[in-house]
Amino acid sequence: MLKEEAEAIIDVPLDEVWDWVKNLENITSIIPRVEIIEKIEENHLIVRGDVLPFLNLPDEITTGEAKTIEVNEGKKHTRTITEGKIYKIETFLQCEEREENETRIFMKAEGELKGKAGTALEKLVFLPVTETLVPSARINDILQELKENIKEYMRKHWKEELEKKTKELESFVYTVSHDLRTPLISLEGFADILSEEYGEELGEEGKHYLERIRANVDKIDNFIDDLLQLSRVGRKEPPKEDVDLEEVAQEVADDLSTELEEKEIEVKIGNNLPSFYFERKRVYQIFSNFISNACKYMGDQENPQIRIDGKDKDGSWLVWVEDNGIGIAEDQQEKIFEVFQRENRVEEEGTGVGLSITKKIVESHDGEIWVESEKGKGSTFYIEFPKSTVKNLEDEKED
Ligand code: ADP
Repeated sequence: MLKEEAEAIIDVPLDEVWDWVKNLENITSIIPRVEIIEKIEENHLIVRGDVLPFLNLPDEITTGEAKTIEVNEGKKHTRTITEGKIYKIETFLQCEEREENETRIFMKAEGELKGKAGTALEKLVFLPVTETLVPSARINDILQELKENIKEYMRKHWKEELEKKTKELESFVYTVSHDLRTPLISLEGFADILSEEYGEELGEEGKHYLERIRANVDKIDNFIDDLLQLSRVGRKEPPKEDVDLEEVAQEVADDLSTELEEKEIEVKIGNNLPSFYFERKRVYQIFSNFISNACKYMGDQENPQIRIDGKDKDGSWLVWVEDNGIGIAEDQQEKIFEVFQRENRVEEEGTGVGLSITKKIVESHDGEIWVESEKGKGSTFYIEFPKSTVKNLEDEKED
């Protein structure tokens, strides 16, 4: 989320900059809120704001509710935005040497609005969000500290927002999934009765349809299982322990050996995988999702391979699962992490929930998840965790 553009070299006493950093709380609050002028119909709101805010977008404006938002920007002009959803925010830290001993540091923020097909429809630039003048010297160190502070601030800010939204969604998903189970069990029961008591009368065609009903009931049952799993992540966490990632990756590969052998897939686990202080079950779920997907979406490769390894990046750990399977089109690479999103045209069975569960596990530990892929060539799924969230505090004390 943070993009650095800091280049100039100047020296600043840290104290002066701290005040500026502390002021971040105010900075976010001065970004104006929009005001809903009128709700014309269910999907149409008219909104006013001097600039379209991105940090304090009111709850009422969600993609679901407002398909069209009209923004009256300082009464200058009105435009229509399809899906008024901010999908990308970046903050830039910039400096500019004013005079010989004086440099201006400022923060600029950019937000992008989501268009019809998920493309950036509009870019909003806030320049500068805040600025401060500092004497020139030692700027590199200071900018580094600033970046860390802003990152931390942003992480916290978004985490709180996300936690609130996630809680609402979780309880909704949990209730709905539970309520769906009951009629589903009845359906299954009636299908059994039909088969046992009227099997003869049904004939071949009737039995075929009954089987299809059963298959569909199973499908919905899988959906509900996945949804319940999704809503449980973060709710009821098993205890943390020291987990050797190499060991878990191997365990998952062993558990999936039937499928892997069937497709003659070679699994290579590198020896740079770390140990995490984490919930073991969750580590298993992450690898299980990545490896089973790599196997499922392998296609007809001549030399099918899955490679798993990791890298120590000083402040964080990077872990990846790479395959040489069917790959994922570029415009789908973000979407597949959303619930029920599957790449267009995949034929393999699935619910489209696995990666959402994985994302949720990773993000609830302050980690990041992404994929790099090329259609027809393969995919690499990455996860990265700050060391501070995956290390055992007890060990640290002993060090
Ligand atoms: P599911 O596999 O049940 O559809 P997931 O959430 O695990 O659900 O994955 C979402 C989608 O991402 C899949 O439907 C598939 O299109 C794509 N995908 C995931 N992993 C891979 C992979 N290793 N190679 C190609 N496509 C993948």
